[in-house]
Order: sequence, then structure tokens, then C-alpha cells
Amino acid sequence: MIDPKLKTLTWKTSLLAVMDLVLPRVCVVCERELLPEEKHICFECLAKLPLTHFAELSRNPMADAFNIKIARDCYEPYAYAAALYFYSEEDNYSRIPWALKYRGDFGAGRYFSNMLGAQMRQSDLFKDIDLVVPVPLHWLRRYKRGYNQAEVIADSLGKALNAPVIADLLVRIRRTHTQTKLGMEQKGSNVQGAFSVRGRRLKGLSVKHILLCDDVFTTGSTLSQCYFALRDALGPDVRISVATLGYVGKV
Ligand SMILES: [Zn+2]
Repeated sequence: MIDPKLKTLTWKTSLLAVMDLVLPRVCVVCERELLPEEKHICFECLAKLPLTHFAELSRNPMADAFNIKIARDCYEPYAYAAALYFYSEEDNYSRIPWALKYRGDFGAGRYFSNMLGAQMRQSDLFKDIDLVVPVPLHWLRRYKRGYNQAEVIADSLGKALNAPVIADLLVRIRRTHTQTKLGMEQKGSNVQGAFSVRGRRLKGLSVKHILLCDDVFTTGSTLSQCYFALRDALGPDVRISVATLGYVGKV
């Protein structure tokens, strides 16, 4: 069944959704056929999923990396950061965000986002989140893909944290190269000034703690550019935290 919430499904993503019903259910990580009681991931891969548990920690490597990126004013509230698991291109767990991003596997996307949401709901750090915002795609890329994978993640986290989601608050004003193919330095300059805020969407809203969502945290360049756009629109008192499914890096 196609989720009525994803109103912008194209023929391509509709076809993928239908294929999901017809094809055998396999583990998104090892691709072994799933047992009836398994969902999206087999028990073995689930047991070995390298969880970060960052949601419980106000200071963690992801939060530190992100705060270094955004530290232009020392008085700004510290940004918290949570990721579900340690992401590496070398292992098959990289197929988790890939399944959502390139295969239109919304079921798996929601399943892993809900897992992250459950961890964040248990944490005191994210109790006061009052708005969830996904990193936007450029309209042309969104049109071609048919959906924005960060929106699927934001939707699950919004539900878990009982906070509204404004999917079109941020807009990507400049088309950028795919970040995965760029070096560290290029990643930063690639996305600089690429985002702006639709100010009218903020009218009448009183926001204290925003959660920015994306699929994978690599250098934090994309999220930090979104942060700067939000910070300019909202002023210095609002806390802007980040959450992703994967975090690239080791403790
Ligand atoms: Zn597996």
C-alpha cells in the first residue's frame, strides 16, 4: 500500500512500492530472505547493528564535530546530536540509508527512523523539541527522485517526539553536487549559502528547540549550512540540534 502521506510519489516510486509487495522480503543489510517475524532487517544483522547511543549523551563525537562547525558565536545554545548507528561505506550497514534514498524503501526508512526516535524519546535532551525540519533537496533532484529521504526521517522523529514537522521551511536555493563524491574541503564550499528559510512558514510560531534531520552525518557541512540559514531567521536563543540515521566516524 502506498502511504497517502507521501503525496508527491511519481510513477517511479509508485512502481518501487508495488515491487516491494511482489518481491520476496529480504534483509536490507545482508539481503537474506526474512523470516515472517523479521521486519526489514534479520535478527543477526539487527543484533550486530553498531548503535551509537548518542541520543543519551549531551557531549558525543557527532555533537562536538557539529558544534565546531557552527561555533561562530559562543553564546549560542549547544547543539545536541543523535545518530542511530556508526555508518561506514565499507560495510553492508551502508545499505540502510541507501534503501531509503535510492530504492524508495519507505518501510525500511520508517523502521530505522522509528528506532532512532524511540531512543531520542527516552532522552532528556530532546524532550523540548518543538519543531522538526528535514534538510531539503533541490526541487529538481526531488522531482527526479520523487521524494526527499530526509522528510521520511523527519516525519518519524516528529511523531516520536510529538513535535510538528515543517518539511518546506528550508529551501535549497542552489543546486549542489552530490556530497558523497566530493572531498572534505569541497563538501564545505559545495553547500555554502545553498539554503534559505521560508520566513512566512515561521509566522505565529514560538520555537525554542529545532531538530534538523538528514540521512547521514559525514562532515556536517550540509547540516551546518541549514543551521546558519535557520539561525539567521530565528535569532540567537533557539537551540538547533541535529539527528541522522548514520554517523560517519568512530569514537
Ligand atoms: Zn541480515
